[in-house]
Amino acid sequence: MALKEYQAKRDFRETPEPPPAPASQAQGARHRPIFVVQEHHASRLHYDFRLEAEGVLKSWAVPKEPSLDPAQKRLAVRVEDHPLAYATFQGTIPAGQYGAGTVSIWDQGTYDNVLADKPVPQTVTEGIQAGHLEFALHGQKLQGRFALIRMRRTGPDKEHWLLIKMQDAWARPAGHAAANARQHGRVHSGQPGSRTAAGVPAAARARHTARPPEAGVTYTHTDKLIYPEAGITKGDVLDFYRRMATRLLPYLCDRPATLERLPEGLGGSDTPHFWQKHTPASYPDWIERIALPSEHGEEVQYVLVNNVETLLYLVNQDTLTFHVGFSRVTDLDRPDFVLFDLDPGQAGFADVVTVAKELHQILQAESYTAFVKTSGKTGLHVLVPWERKTDYNEARAWALSMAQQVVEALPQHATTERSKAKRGKRVYVDVIQNAKGHHAVPPYVLRAVPGAPVSTPLRWQELTPDLDPTAYNLKTIFRRLARQRHDPMAGLLRASL
Ligand code: MN
Repeated sequence: MALKEYQAKRDFRETPEPPPAPASQAQGARHRPIFVVQEHHASRLHYDFRLEAEGVLKSWAVPKEPSLDPAQKRLAVRVEDHPLAYATFQGTIPAGQYGAGTVSIWDQGTYDNVLADKPVPQTVTEGIQAGHLEFALHGQKLQGRFALIRMRRTGPDKEHWLLIKMQDAWARPAGHAAANARQHGRVHSGQPGSRTAAGVPAAARARHTARPPEAGVTYTHTDKLIYPEAGITKGDVLDFYRRMATRLLPYLCDRPATLERLPEGLGGSDTPHFWQKHTPASYPDWIERIALPSEHGEEVQYVLVNNVETLLYLVNQDTLTFHVGFSRVTDLDRPDFVLFDLDPGQAGFADVVTVAKELHQILQAESYTAFVKTSGKTGLHVLVPWERKTDYNEARAWALSMAQQVVEALPQHATTERSKAKRGKRVYVDVIQNAKGHHAVPPYVLRAVPGAPVSTPLRWQELTPDLDPTAYNLKTIFRRLARQRHDPMAGLLRASL
């Protein structure tokens, strides 16, 4: 039994630690498994990192405090499984007992096993055997994705692993703010930094990192109707994005964003509706931006939606849809995903489904992993992680070759014809958007059409000819998400790291 070693090391007449409970007495299936980090002042201070799996707590001793900085990899020594009841243990282990010293809870919460979303899903136990775990923590201190990677075995000793924060919206580089700004090529308003001849920041000299307000973002005009036909107000839209932030932010993080703003909502054809690339200087300092040259050479301060406060501030400024670049600021010349935008034009949604399935088969035959989502309007988006890390021209040429294979297989249903008139009733397989400076609709955003539809990731098996994309909207989406253990599109982010 998994807890034999735990039991053998302890005398439960002496220590207040919980005795091992057989798995059958352990708590039944919960919605989400838990994690806990216990600060343990033993002969040496360390942090015990524990993940619930198969009725026990899989455990590692981490000598240094876990970090949200991806650069601060933490040694994690694998130790014996602990009973589930240990997750709430705090107290003093008496002198003479194993691990004598005080234990307190440093952080706790739930987690998602990211490996469960892989093409070949893995349980945590399988991941431990393979020496590679990825999980998203939902704690107070630790949030977002982490990896635990086993290092090469060096002998019969304990297994040495590394606990690593992965790049996402919760990653927080430690140390000097200026070094951080330089590394990411970021600038803040009023701190322009030095520039090259092209007008691109060479090294932003941020003297401080402005922080979002502690009290959160102030909402204004929450009664304003944004989707009048559905009675959806700006307050409802703010509430949507607040609840969606955990799912959405990883797709926005570190990507230059273009904001689709409707200050008067979807009132009618004459209501304002515009796409904002440049961030006004009047926006607060804590809104992160990156200066990039536009097509015409002038500097554009693109916003980076890297935290929930920025997200909600921009929604309060009447942003309805966020659009993001295909690259992150760390590597702007290379896309990290490729988009196939399937646009029905005069064809029906069932035709889009047919074309998407054919594209999926072609991609699978060439061993590419593909993800599908509703566009939120009339089409479907198929996204493929671009792991070859080439430039935009190569990525787009590859996408076009895949699209042409679809057209060859389904000449009656699909076309790569750019002229609308020549497409007829065929679905347009659009790949030309895969270009530097262009942007795509990420999953989990609202679209500016009646009904408040949401661009929604689907499992491939959900794609049926009678699928109704309008069924995924502001009023229904959270019921769907509550039933999901995992984001069906999470693999796109993982691969793009
Ligand atoms: Mn310990």
